[in-house]
Amino acid sequence: MVNKVVLTIIDGLGDRLIKELGDKTPLEAAKTPNLDKIAEKSQCGIMCALGRGVRPGSDTSHLQIFGYDPNIYYTGRGPIEVAGIGFKLEHGDVAFRGNFGTIDEDWNIIDRRAGRITDVTEFAKAIDGIEIDGIKFFVKPATAYRAGVIMRGKGLSANITDNDPHVAGGKVLEVVPKDNTEEAKFTAEVVNKFMKKSYEILKDLEINKKRRVNGKFEANFVLLRGAGIYPNNLESFNTKYNYTKSACVAGGGLYKGIGSYLGMDIIEVEGATALPNTNLENKFNTVVDLINNKNYDFVFLHIKPTDSIGEDGDYIGKRDFIEKIDNSISILNNLREDTLIVITADHSTPCELKQHSADPVPIIFCGNGVRKDDVAEFGERSCAKGQLGFIEGKYVMPIILDIQGKSKLIGA
Ligand code: ZN
Repeated sequence: MVNKVVLTIIDGLGDRLIKELGDKTPLEAAKTPNLDKIAEKSQCGIMCALGRGVRPGSDTSHLQIFGYDPNIYYTGRGPIEVAGIGFKLEHGDVAFRGNFGTIDEDWNIIDRRAGRITDVTEFAKAIDGIEIDGIKFFVKPATAYRAGVIMRGKGLSANITDNDPHVAGGKVLEVVPKDNTEEAKFTAEVVNKFMKKSYEILKDLEINKKRRVNGKFEANFVLLRGAGIYPNNLESFNTKYNYTKSACVAGGGLYKGIGSYLGMDIIEVEGATALPNTNLENKFNTVVDLINNKNYDFVFLHIKPTDSIGEDGDYIGKRDFIEKIDNSISILNNLREDTLIVITADHSTPCELKQHSADPVPIIFCGNGVRKDDVAEFGERSCAKGQLGFIEGKYVMPIILDIQGKSKLIGA
């Protein structure tokens, strides 16, 4: 019987055969004695998070693995980003990703990032809390020139366009509704009013006058994109699966955002950077501590660099980073004995393509009660021979719950 679950998602882990690696994938070419030992005790298979032939984003793929159909629960990147900066969303909020940028008086964009300004706290504060037509705007600083913008009030829709033309030198775009609903029309109108009002406030700020005098780009405008709504019917992860405490251990903002969006506790780990220098030992040790000592039922552990290295096309780097993961994953041997370990990826990021692909990724389930198979190696092709066969991401949580003896009985 297992009572605890650790789900490790190694981003973009899957790959294709690389001639220079002896016609192996970086995972197959890597020396991974510890991962292989876990695979040996596991039931193994392969997975396409969104289905065969579907090329997933990291955000949609994670949502699907956690059992949230992205067609319903993913309306845009905004809400996940603002959740990632620690903003507590309420159902019905519409959220955007924002950049503080520089525009001239005709609203031509001079610089999309206000000269890569490093801190926008003061600027965000100046326009935080504005109310227009019964809608309250929250503006929260994020990393460097970035910010989250949240609209709260009745009758909002996320089905509106960006004001960000995504190119320097363009003009700020008017936000328009993407459908004929009153909600989309109203939301677009209010956003356009907010753009005017926030520009009026920002351009006259003392800190901007100073930047002007010092020859720096002013942060006088917020470029908005990725509108999404925090759905009314989104149940928290704990409620949906009847867990008492769940946690997210991640270095990357997007993944903390996904954890937070689903109501998991976000655990900050020293040295967790989402970059190749990330402190994997600290992350694995934190996971063990959360499960063994802090009463967590479910921990989601995210490891990012395999994806970014794959996007650079660096197959040697990817192989070596996988070996680095293998080195520290033995820390999971310290987990309580009644813990289920699941290891998989959200998608493949083949070095050949330097982007996500729909190639299936390996997935293994290791713990008491799991019917283990003959696979003794953690790899794309070895796991394809496992007893689990091919699954889609939506089956991951049902399989976990069933191993736990928690799944709902259909029929009598
Ligand atoms: Zn990913």
